[in-house]
Amino acid sequence: MPVDANTRIEAVYAEVLRRNPGETEFHQAVREVLHSLAPVLRQRPEYAEAKLVERLVEPERQVLFRVPWTDDRGEVHVNRGFRVEFNSALGPYKGGLRFVPDLGLDTVKFLAFEQIFKNALTGLSIGAGKGGADFDPKGRSDAEVMRFCQSFMTELHRHLGEHTDVPAGDIGVGTREIGYLFGQYKRLTNRYEAGVLTGKGIGWGGSHARTEATGYGTVHFVREMLATRGEDLAGRRVVLSGSGNVSLFAIEKAQALGAQVVACSDSSGYLVDEDGLDLDLLKEIKLERRARLDTYAEARARAVFSTRGSVYDVPCDIALPCATQNELEEAHAVSLVKNGVKAVAEGANMPCTPYAVEVLREAGVLYGPGKAANAGGVATSALEMRQNAARVSWTFEETETRLAAVMRGIHTDCVTAAEEFGEADDYVLGANAAGFFRVAEAMQSQGV
Ligand code: GLU
Repeated sequence: MPVDANTRIEAVYAEVLRRNPGETEFHQAVREVLHSLAPVLRQRPEYAEAKLVERLVEPERQVLFRVPWTDDRGEVHVNRGFRVEFNSALGPYKGGLRFVPDLGLDTVKFLAFEQIFKNALTGLSIGAGKGGADFDPKGRSDAEVMRFCQSFMTELHRHLGEHTDVPAGDIGVGTREIGYLFGQYKRLTNRYEAGVLTGKGIGWGGSHARTEATGYGTVHFVREMLATRGEDLAGRRVVLSGSGNVSLFAIEKAQALGAQVVACSDSSGYLVDEDGLDLDLLKEIKLERRARLDTYAEARARAVFSTRGSVYDVPCDIALPCATQNELEEAHAVSLVKNGVKAVAEGANMPCTPYAVEVLREAGVLYGPGKAANAGGVATSALEMRQNAARVSWTFEETETRLAAVMRGIHTDCVTAAEEFGEADDYVLGANAAGFFRVAEAMQSQGV
C-alpha cells in the first residue's frame, strides 16, 4: 500500500532531526519546505517512489577545513572554513560565502538548502551550495583580510571550478574579498578562470548590476506582489532592516519607484528619517567610511537614531528585512500588523521566524520569502557566469532588464504553483513547489 504523503514527510523530518542533531536553523528551513511538499507529493506519487525528498534533504558533499593565518602583529589564528555542496541537479553548485564570527555548519546548511529552491526558481541552470568561515572581518586590516582569504582559498580551491562549484559573496564577503580569493585561485591553478567566482570587480570579469541586484530584485518582487492587489510602490512608506549592500540598493530602487523610505538599521540600532533617507549620505557612511548609523543622525535635522525597540516599530506599508536570519520575530510581526503593513519581502535569507510568518499570513499581509524575493542576487551571478563564458560584458541597462525579467518570471511561477496546490497569494507554497519541480525533474532524469 502506498505511504500517505503526510506520513512520508513526517518520517523524512524525523530522519533529518536524527541525522543533524542540534542544527536548529537547518531544521527550520527543512520543515518549512517539507510542509509545502505534502500536496505536491500527493499529486506526483512517482517522486515519492524515487525517494526524491529523502535525497533532497541530504547534502551531496560537505567540506570542513582549517584556515590558519597570521595577523599584523605576527600572531597565528585558526578559523574553520565550510563549503556545503547541497545539490547539483541543475548546474554547478552556486551560492555565497559568509564571514561572520559565529558561523557554524548549521547555518551554512540551512543557507545551502534554501539556495536549492532559490537557484531553481531563477531558471538559470545553477545548482546549490553555500560556505564561509567563522572569521570576523570587523576591525581587521586590509592585509589581514587578504591573508585570511588567501589561506581560505588555499584549501577551498580544490573543490571549485567554473563547472563544479562557483561561490560568490554574502555577509562579510564583498568585492574586496572576492578579489583576494580570485587572485589566490589564479595563483594556485595558473588559470584565468573568470567563471569560478561571481561578484568580481567590473574591470576583471564582474557583471554590471551584480552589486545592486539583490536589493533591486527584492523591490521588483514586492512591486509584483502589490500589483496582484492592484497597488504599487509610489507614495508608500518603506522600512528596512540592515544597511549593507542588500538594504542600500533596495532603498535606491524603492526611492526610484517613488516610495518614501523612512527607516533602516545596523547592528548598533536603527535610524528614522521622516524626510526620507538620504541615500548618498548612507552610502558614504556605510560603504566608504564603514561607520555606524548614529553618525547619520548627527548630520540630518529630523533624523533620530535609536537603540530601544526595533526598526519594525516604525509604522510602514512595506517592510523589507534585509539583515540576517530570524531577526524579525513574532512580536515584530504583531507590531507591523498593528501599524497596517501591507507587504513584507525578505531581502535576507530566512529573516522572519516561523511564528512571525504565521502572524503576517493570518493578517492577510503579502509575504515574499527570501528564496523568491532575494533571488535577484544569485540570478545576476548566473548572468555574470554567462558573460564570462561568452567573454562579453553587457551594459548596466541590459543586465538590469534581464534581472527584472527574471524576477517577474519567479513571481509568476510562484503564483502559478501556489494556485495549483493552495492559495494564489501563498508565496511560500508557490516558491517551494515551483523550485522543487525543477530540481525533482532533473534528479529524476539523472537517476539514483
Ligand atoms: N549570497 C547570495 C544569496 O544568498 C548570492 C549568492 C550568489 O550570487 O552565488 O543568494
